[in-house]
Amino acid sequence: MTTKSRGQSSSEAARYDDGLGCDRASCPESTRALFGTSEAFLASVIENMPTVVFVKDARTGRFILINRAGEDLLGLPRSAIIGMTDHDLFAKEEAERFVARDRRAMQSGEPQVIDEEPIHTPHNGIRCLRTRVIAVRDTDGHPHLLLGISEDITEQKVAGERMRYMAHHDGLTSLANRALFRQQLDAAMSEFRRTGRKVTLFFFDLDGFKKINDTLGHPTGDALLRMLADRLRKCAGEGDIVARLGGDEFAIVHPASPTAKDDTALAGEIVQRVSKPYDIGGHRLTVTASVGISQSSEICSDSERMLRNSDVALYRAKEGGRNSFRFYDPSMDRHLEEKRARELAIRNALGRGEFEVHYQPFVGVSNQRICGLEALLRWRHPEEGLLPPSDFIPVAEEAGLISTLGEWVLRKACADAAQWPVYIGLAVNISPSQCTPALAQTVMSALASSRLSPGQLELEITESALLHDTSTTVSVLHQLRGLGVKIAMDDFGTGYSSLSYLRSFPFDKIKIDKSFVQDLLTDSDSLSIVRAVAGLGASFGVSTTAEGVETAEQFEQVRAAGCTYVQGFYFGRPVPIDEVFRALRERRAAIRKPGYA
Ligand code: C2E
Ligand code: CA
Ligand code: CA
Repeated sequence: MTTKSRGQSSSEAARYDDGLGCDRASCPESTRALFGTSEAFLASVIENMPTVVFVKDARTGRFILINRAGEDLLGLPRSAIIGMTDHDLFAKEEAERFVARDRRAMQSGEPQVIDEEPIHTPHNGIRCLRTRVIAVRDTDGHPHLLLGISEDITEQKVAGERMRYMAHHDGLTSLANRALFRQQLDAAMSEFRRTGRKVTLFFFDLDGFKKINDTLGHPTGDALLRMLADRLRKCAGEGDIVARLGGDEFAIVHPASPTAKDDTALAGEIVQRVSKPYDIGGHRLTVTASVGISQSSEICSDSERMLRNSDVALYRAKEGGRNSFRFYDPSMDRHLEEKRARELAIRNALGRGEFEVHYQPFVGVSNQRICGLEALLRWRHPEEGLLPPSDFIPVAEEAGLISTLGEWVLRKACADAAQWPVYIGLAVNISPSQCTPALAQTVMSALASSRLSPGQLELEITESALLHDTSTTVSVLHQLRGLGVKIAMDDFGTGYSSLSYLRSFPFDKIKIDKSFVQDLLTDSDSLSIVRAVAGLGASFGVSTTAEGVETAEQFEQVRAAGCTYVQGFYFGRPVPIDEVFRALRERRAAIRKPGYA
């Protein structure tokens, strides 16, 4: 539909000389004619207004006046416009709309305001007008003129739409943002309540994204998110809403329809597509997704519940090894509740003094004398008895309680060690999440308040501490070393690339994981590994401890393999501090097999 621009013969134009003295060639004069000669000033105002002003004959619908803004809008000279009707100028449908509007103005006697009036112009494409039309009546009370004012609001509307878009979409990926996601989820759920049309919510985040962002920088992270968004759009069907909720958190609202993908198929596709490599700036990167899924049902019929259930399922997906999806089921709630209760109990236990530090000796292979004691945390639970770390440390780590708990262990162990002979060292386990710059401060403070010599303290870290954000961890380790504290690598051989971690920091000691020691007599590979690590240590001047030595035969093997120290039930089980002191008193610090426990 375009404006009809039709030439008009002078005779035709003359026919519309309406007696008001309209001179079609010069609008200011025709304006003056309309409003009286004394209104020259007003005429000039109208002519120069940025708003379109037009006057039509109410009877014939023909234009008898239009200002310069009107000419500009239509891209036609007024000589062509004046005398024409809407039907001459515009396509049928559009013209009928204008005629109907004018008729309403005449019949009602009220101004007609049309907030958004699209109009097809020959030279300016589609424009959007805000128009106000009033009928001007003659002395008999009949409408004889139609006065219209149109404001071109196209730019305003485009800007408004842009703002609305921005308010509802994520700037980076152009996916729906949290606000739009919530709106759409609410709408889908209210439709579910009304019609029973089922809804599935997929809620997921990325495993491994933070590391990419931290190590390769935000531009790389952003590029990955944009590629990922494209992949998600490909997974999604027509009625689905794909949203980025922030950071590396995404969601898909998936209402049921005859053509919609099956929930399990879609979940599988998300996991699979996300985990394909991303080639960005010469790097081949991978991330994986853990997906939690909730489905609408009689008891899950609102957005809150859907969000909560998918969150619970996501949590379980992560727990169950990541790169996978889980559908919510009510047993997950129980699991979560138990976990929450455990978290709370750990907090309370700290306050109630239910934690204890037990100590297990490590012994020099050459002389079988005790060289140090490793601090091992225990929880004397009022109902469950003495609990090993595996029952509560993972929960404490996840709940962010490990720093507090770890600091408590460190202070307690340093205070205990300050009371035993200086030639007996103290080893304290440090969780990966404790390896932050704050750790050096904590260690310094624990040493200062216990007056333990830094040389007596050894901190044991596992290689998983070096898995994430290696540079921060390494600088923390150097800081600790700077204090005079020794650093040991614990559980050596249990990770994927233990050897490579040895290159990232010059450890003082390597503790060979007990799984190798326990297999020594049955598995020749284990023996080779223990020998190799002991040999490696010896050539680099790093001492080695064989953990988990339970028998004389095992001791004989690790001794022959060349380990520096041994630790295990054969030499002593972990015991409370009182027993340590008693044993030390009795044996004058020379603890010989079969141990003091
Ligand atoms: P780990 O650092 O490897 O500690 C040695 C574990 O092996 C201890 O288990 C100890 O009781 C056990 N063990 C020692 N000798 C033998 C043996 O001959 N045979 C067998 N089968 N086991 C032996 P525990 O005390 O249950 O501690 C388990 C883990 O919990 C520790 O492993 C350590 O990673 C962690 N842990 C203990 N205390 C703390 C702590 O204060 N902070 C942190 N972050 N982790 C701790
Ligand atoms: Ca340890
Ligand atoms: Ca260990």
